[in-house]
Amino acid sequence: MADFILKPGREKSLKRKHPWVFDGAIAERRGRYKAGDTVNLLDSDRQFLAKGTVSPESSILVRVWSFDPNEPVDHALIKRRLDMAIAARESFDPKAGRRLVHGESDGMPSLVVDQYDQVIVVQFGAMAAERWRETVVAHLAKRLNPTAIYERSDSDGRRYEGLEPETGLLHGGLPDSVIIEENGVKMLVDVAGGHKTGAYLDQRDNRLFVQQHARAKRVLNTFCYTDGFGLHAAKGGATEVVSVDSSASALEIARHNVSLNPDLNIGSFNWCEADVFGFLREQVDGGERYDMVILDPPKFVKSVKHVDRAARAYKDIAMLGAKLLNPGGMLVNFSCSSAMSLDLFRKVTASAFSDANVDGCLIKTLHAPRDHWVSMAFPEGDYLKGFVTVSR
Ligand code: SAH
Repeated sequence: MADFILKPGREKSLKRKHPWVFDGAIAERRGRYKAGDTVNLLDSDRQFLAKGTVSPESSILVRVWSFDPNEPVDHALIKRRLDMAIAARESFDPKAGRRLVHGESDGMPSLVVDQYDQVIVVQFGAMAAERWRETVVAHLAKRLNPTAIYERSDSDGRRYEGLEPETGLLHGGLPDSVIIEENGVKMLVDVAGGHKTGAYLDQRDNRLFVQQHARAKRVLNTFCYTDGFGLHAAKGGATEVVSVDSSASALEIARHNVSLNPDLNIGSFNWCEADVFGFLREQVDGGERYDMVILDPPKFVKSVKHVDRAARAYKDIAMLGAKLLNPGGMLVNFSCSSAMSLDLFRKVTASAFSDANVDGCLIKTLHAPRDHWVSMAFPEGDYLKGFVTVSR
């Protein structure tokens, strides 16, 4: 096994159990290795720090599997980690959709596993997970006996590792449709063609919050995707839901989702295929008002370098959202960029209210649910944050 020796002082993050080593931290590479091999990480005094998968084309050169010199990185370790991750989600109902493996925070770097009832979707986001794909798939099939295991390794990250996108069936056969029931709301999951692994399970608890606060309200749901928030608002008694997304196929599923929930009144929904930035401006110019405005944009910050530009975009939409609020109305705004810290996002939201000339009171901070837990050693995992602010 090759030994990678860190530059003096660069061992600090590994000592805090952070699982990434960047190429700039390495002083010397000893021995032969190829992409996907396990390598040892040693400090400048040649003391063992950790071991992980090497990905020579990536700036994240090594992703750590173990900090224990006596723990081999082998099939048994992968199965053990999968078992631990699955056990931690035992109380989550698979029929509601649940995340079984949340990458680094489950000690399984770059691996995501989501379960939608009988269908499991896997994402091998980088070389570290790619290397163990057969073991992962075989163990999931044996442990959970799913109808299908489907691969959605088409996230951006693989490009930086020299890995091609891979999608398709790995086990069993996909049913005609995959439907989950979340907080009493049925939703179709487009496993093969939808975003991410098919659904945004990370907003489950926040959609429940919206359901619980929507009674008798006029709700604007922007960046709605298949309208999870809108359906929850209607379930919670909203009188009118206006939902906006630029994706026609997502809106088509949104329409279909209403038909899956016969207790919801189709008449209260209004879907608009539009660019949210322009839509919000038109709504402000047209003097529209809402009791609740939800802003759940895609990741605006691709890297820390672009955080300023992204902060302006988050502020722009939050300012327009705040202007659309009736007195006592609620703005629910999210960022799913890990480069956008909670603190900065709060400042951005505060200045949006100030620019809108609306007096806002923060009543709640929102995060991803517990099946998307974040290891304290891996702050990058804390990507989703949201604020509920009420206008006064
Ligand atoms: N709130 C959703 C998830 C939103 S994901 C849920 O709970 O499931 C972000 C969505 O924003 C995607 O559906 C994408 O199609 C849409 N989107 C991205 N940029 C947009 C833009 N400028 N205008 C409108 N929609 C946009």
